[in-house]
Amino acid sequence: MNKIKIMESSVAKWNRIIEGKSTDGGVLDCPPCRIYYMLLCIGCPIAQYTGKKFCKGSPYIPWYWHQNNVHGKIRKKVYCPECLHLATDMRDFMIEIVESMKEKKKEKARNSRKNKSAV
Ligand SMILES: [Zn+2]
Repeated sequence: MNKIKIMESSVAKWNRIIEGKSTDGGVLDCPPCRIYYMLLCIGCPIAQYTGKKFCKGSPYIPWYWHQNNVHGKIRKKVYCPECLHLATDMRDFMIEIVESMKEKKKEKARNSRKNKSAV
């Protein structure tokens, strides 16, 4: 599975949460976590983007603490307008990462074409 696809499924996960159709199971249902968390969060596109492990520096942290401190339920999902706001932040951040990965991929392709034509 390529990294862009993994992050796109993360965007889809947060869209389902925003629509109230799904809950956030954290590590258990986070598409990149399922692959990278086992390795102590090495190589996850989110960690590569923020430069920090375990989703630090991402909107996941305010979501996580809001869920814990305000709602304190086992299921993390949209309970109030603030939840919706925080989940939307997280979804937008996942999109931002997908976009940046796609941009990098394009750049790479451009560079390799450049190198070939120079030879
Ligand atoms: Zn809330």
